[in-house]
Amino acid sequence: MEDERQTAEEFFPERINLASLKKAAADCKACDLWKVGTQTVFGEGKARSQVVLIGEQPGDKEDLAGLPFVGPAGKLLDRALEDAGIDRELAYVTNVVKHFKWKPRGKRRIHEKPNAREIAACSPWLEAELGVIKPRVIILLGATAAQTLLGKEFRVTQSRGVWVESKFEAKVMATVHPSSILRAPDAETRDRQFREFVDDLRVAAKEIDRS
Ligand code: SF4
Repeated sequence: MEDERQTAEEFFPERINLASLKKAAADCKACDLWKVGTQTVFGEGKARSQVVLIGEQPGDKEDLAGLPFVGPAGKLLDRALEDAGIDRELAYVTNVVKHFKWKPRGKRRIHEKPNAREIAACSPWLEAELGVIKPRVIILLGATAAQTLLGKEFRVTQSRGVWVESKFEAKVMATVHPSSILRAPDAETRDRQFREFVDDLRVAAKEIDRS
């Protein structure tokens, strides 16, 4: 029987750095999602990154590639970062949960939201990433990331694009997840949502410029 209290911490390497964490996370079995996803999708970027962007979990393309934000949502994020003036080379991208949770629909694999147990089990990886990088800015993409780091009461719709109080030394902001923009019902809505997303990222860009 699975130990309800098991977390990723039990799979931590002795020496903590991004490379050792990534290697150790590849063997993580702290929740059942390792059976569902193809592989662990750890964060990607430099240890000296000034900004860390955090999503919910890897998607279909990320699961196959083993890299975060390389699918359609990642491409939209790249474009938005460029428009906002944030150098992608200075950004580390990662997720709250490191395995792709999905259910089959025909031949497709449909995203399924991770539950509280899975998020709690996986969170030590994210905490460790933030501990190593010590970013100047943390940007939370979507409700799962925002509520995991800021509490269940946090509402992205009410408090997006502004600096919020948190336990972290970094300045912290939440905004939408780029995949939500891809789901917009029409091109006009999608364009407007994209511009709003870029506006949020511009607030962060100013903070990064100052460092
Ligand atoms: S989702 Fe996270 S905690 Fe669960 S097995 Fe994967 S890496 Fe480990």
